Amino acid sequence: MDPQLQRRLIEEVANAVIRHADELTALDQAIGDGDHGLNMKRGAVTILEQLDQLAAKPLPEALRASGQALVMKVGGASGPLYGTLLMALGKDLPPAPNRDDLVRAVGAAVEAVKRIGRSEVGQKTLLDVLAPVHEELASDGPGLVDRVRRRSAAAAEATVPMKAIRGRASFLGERSIGHMDPGARSASLMIAAACTVMEE
Ligand code: ADP
Ligand code: MG
Repeated sequence: MDPQLQRRLIEEVANAVIRHADELTALDQAIGDGDHGLNMKRGAVTILEQLDQLAAKPLPEALRASGQALVMKVGGASGPLYGTLLMALGKDLPPAPNRDDLVRAVGAAVEAVKRIGRSEVGQKTLLDVLAPVHEELASDGPGLVDRVRRRSAAAAEATVPMKAIRGRASFLGERSIGHMDPGARSASLMIAAACTVMEE
């Protein structure tokens, strides 16, 4: 992976989280405890503080180090969940991944998130974005990056009518219906930011 591209990816994803922190907070205020924006922003700031070091590392090591930093520095459910996702990606990706490598590593990372969250697709969590995105990455056809971006946005929207079965939103039962899951939204906005960099 080109170090310049790696730097841009880290920077743009982290900045997108910071730009959308208030939106994530509002979503979590509706069906959680209102800390998702702050948790995600703390993670993004932590990553940006290490930007030079992270950009200089081989991709797998940069992912592992980012994941470890999130697990250590970010509270709530999202720190360990996203931290596990990045660590799993770092464990499975080679330094210069091709599409097949990416599909395999994202699949393994989704499974790792399921294990640590004791959760499944369909429970109104970030998995409801990550799993469809994995499926889209694996499917053939033109315009891969655009398809991934659209699929992740549609998948986040599709959490609105779901009833939460995992996480704090599940305490609300039926009242969780009608709101987008905060973690699904953070996943989709980070994926959109990564897609924008890949298209440049
Ligand atoms: P907390 O729920 O501890 O306040 P955050 O608000 O930062 O943490 O993150 C909430 C998001 O984390 C949810 O919107 C959901 O997407 C995700 N989440 C919570 N619990 C789980 C779980 N067990 N498995 C998968 N995702 C989960
Ligand atoms: Mg919360």
